[in-house]
Amino acid sequence: MNRSGGMPLREEASHMNRILHILVCLLLTCLLPLHSQAARKSQTAFTSQSSATRRPLAVLNDIKHWSTPDYTRVSIELDQDVVWEAHELGKGGNGKQGRIFIDIKRSRLAMGIKNITIGDGLLKGVRVAQYRPEVVRVVLDTQNIKSYKVFPLSTPARLVIDVRGERPTEISRMEQTLSTPPAPTAEPGRSEVAAVTKRTKSPRKVSHSKIRRIVLDPGHGGHDPGAVGAGGTQEKDVVLAIGLKLRELLREELGLNVVMTRTSDVFIPLEERTAIANKVNADLFLSIHANAAPNHAASGIETYYLSLAKTEKAARLAAKENGTTLEKVSVLQAILFDLMANYKLNDSAHLANDVQKALHKKIHGLHADVRNLGVKQGPFYVLVGATMPSILVETAFVSNVEEEARLKDPAYQEATAEGILEGVRAYISSLK
Ligand SMILES: [Zn+2]
Repeated sequence: MNRSGGMPLREEASHMNRILHILVCLLLTCLLPLHSQAARKSQTAFTSQSSATRRPLAVLNDIKHWSTPDYTRVSIELDQDVVWEAHELGKGGNGKQGRIFIDIKRSRLAMGIKNITIGDGLLKGVRVAQYRPEVVRVVLDTQNIKSYKVFPLSTPARLVIDVRGERPTEISRMEQTLSTPPAPTAEPGRSEVAAVTKRTKSPRKVSHSKIRRIVLDPGHGGHDPGAVGAGGTQEKDVVLAIGLKLRELLREELGLNVVMTRTSDVFIPLEERTAIANKVNADLFLSIHANAAPNHAASGIETYYLSLAKTEKAARLAAKENGTTLEKVSVLQAILFDLMANYKLNDSAHLANDVQKALHKKIHGLHADVRNLGVKQGPFYVLVGATMPSILVETAFVSNVEEEARLKDPAYQEATAEGILEGVRAYISSLK
């Protein structure tokens, strides 16, 4: 295991203990209100400590990361929900290295899990070790960061760490002078992203507005069908069809550079979808879904942006789209405002409003009975961490027999894409 990048983990812990000890002594002798240097960031859990102790140890299976010049997302993959504690020792910078360490209680490392080197200017790398018999310590060696957030996702369980820093000035300047959007970098092994990247290199019309690149995110895919209608229609299929039609329209009509999170029937984890948007430095993020409700009479169009759910219905929908339970959504709600520090709340609400209005208008022209359920708020994982205006559109109810039939119809899919296009057009126009 390569630990040359920093202090060995045990030594690091004793170093921290020494610092804490000195601080406690200072407190006792001087009676000054000092803060510990090792600031505890959070201790959040999906499972209570008492129920966790009865379970076998959680296994840390994998570590993934996505890098941009000012943002890095790390995902720690586990086989069950865990209890953890995150601490920070300095932010790095001025030649000094900082450190974030996360202790995962009642866990062990899977065979072959190795330290990873990142070296993107924010994170030097990630080190892992079995710190105590039942505690895995994950250490992020930071170089020059502003802030970090840790949050849990479920099914499969993982801890996501978002690290933010300053965008290097030379990159900001370079992007301002570019008349065409820079091509996003392809990720090896992700053919659907790579293929799109290749095609987006020469947009047919160059956009001069503030909005140049949009990420379209057809929900679900692969082993996750999303909502399934009584007639067998799967949400993942209809939202992909709508997304692909919308991609063409946004390119043709608005000259936008469009990046898809998926262009085929593949599964993409929720945290990767936002990471793609941040990675390609998108100006807008739009997640496309189809609704479902226990009441099969429910129908209509609604658009969401990220915030606390105001109604039980919105919380239930978020649980469904997040692939979790209502209980876990309430845990997420409790830490949501902390996670939303970089979320463009007003712009997202504005975009949601324009898209909802235009989409309802378009569909109303075809089906006068379509219900306008309006713009709502909910704690959707897929929007957490997005740094650009980002929304989630629930195009129609696949759980409603009539709307299920419409969703399958290519003409209706096209109309839905046209409605969303008009909403994006209205939003862009309002910025000029
Ligand atoms: Zn969905």
